[in-house]
Amino acid sequence: EVGAPHSASGEEAQERDLSRLAPAPRRSRRWVPRRVVITPDALEHAHGRRIVERVEALGIEVERLRANRLTGVRGDDERQTYARAKATLAVVVSPPSRRRLQPISPSADWRVDLAEGCPAHCQYCYLAGSLSGPPVTRVYADLDEILDNLHGYVGTGTVTSRSTARSAEGTTFEASCYSDPLALDHLTGSWQRAVEHFGTWDAPVQLRWTTKYDDVDRFLDLPHGGRTRVRFSVNCRPVTDRWEGGTSGLVERITALRRLAVVGYPVGLTIAPIMPLEGWREHYSELLTLVEQATADIAGLDLTAELITHRFTASSKQVLQGWYPRTTLEMDEARRTVKRGRFGSAKHVYPREVMAELRGWFTEQLAARLPRCRVLYWT
Ligand code: SF4
Repeated sequence: EVGAPHSASGEEAQERDLSRLAPAPRRSRRWVPRRVVITPDALEHAHGRRIVERVEALGIEVERLRANRLTGVRGDDERQTYARAKATLAVVVSPPSRRRLQPISPSADWRVDLAEGCPAHCQYCYLAGSLSGPPVTRVYADLDEILDNLHGYVGTGTVTSRSTARSAEGTTFEASCYSDPLALDHLTGSWQRAVEHFGTWDAPVQLRWTTKYDDVDRFLDLPHGGRTRVRFSVNCRPVTDRWEGGTSGLVERITALRRLAVVGYPVGLTIAPIMPLEGWREHYSELLTLVEQATADIAGLDLTAELITHRFTASSKQVLQGWYPRTTLEMDEARRTVKRGRFGSAKHVYPREVMAELRGWFTEQLAARLPRCRVLYWT
């Protein structure tokens, strides 16, 4: 039955927190943008108008732009531009090129973007170097058209069809490549609509996203049909505490994973970016203990793990050092090996022996501690 609690303990399990391991979770973290703007084209779309209504109902003023170009974001220097952009939410129409979906191996068959940009301040952010210009968060007003466009992709793609472990998922769509859904959904409702769209869609499909937020209340009662896998991007405490500004705490994220799993969502861990910091075994062991404690009693748990080691490129390093000039994050080429990407790009990854040690440890520990967890890939 769609949306039925899988756990025998039902509501009680929903309420349970991880207080034995850490302080009880606080209220979900919700971003309040300092400036919200909407373009004239975005106002033409029903979803654009829904976003305006939603944002205004939260007491936030929405500035109607006269033209479709976003202005007033650049400051006197890079720091000021960064701060202004990160505090701005722009409701726009997605670029036409986005209607032609791109494959996104190994995570999913296709990438679908409902937004671009994120209000958090992770000092290793994956978006640095991928997106150009000031890091404004743009959410798309043409959501209904974006979702309709997916119908043409059912039964295509190679990632899930080639993997026997994943074939039951059908065609998979990744909706968090350039953004963090739970950082924005309270302002847009876009991912809620997407979950409902997939949940009631009569086809073998799966929606996927990953998040560092815990704002899941609005998702618990949706007709998700088990068709959305929500993964929580988690890390060991030193990484979370030092370099993930503006996100929800680790315990809050794991509690949110539990709450979704209890009402039947397939869930996952995106353990990223894995770093061999001093004492890493102990730190990552603590992370696995939190997950173990939070999921052990959930009947029918469908849990996956995606394991991604830290890497950087010359351009991401340059952007990140501009954004976070005093960062203590290690981005030292001399301590890395170069891995060439498909388009000739050079990624600086950990040397082979470090990778082997990390991979061996995670594989062994996950099998022993979270035996129901399926590892989808290591990179
Ligand atoms: Fe970047 Fe993700 Fe952190 Fe947002 S949550 S700043 S997208 S790494």
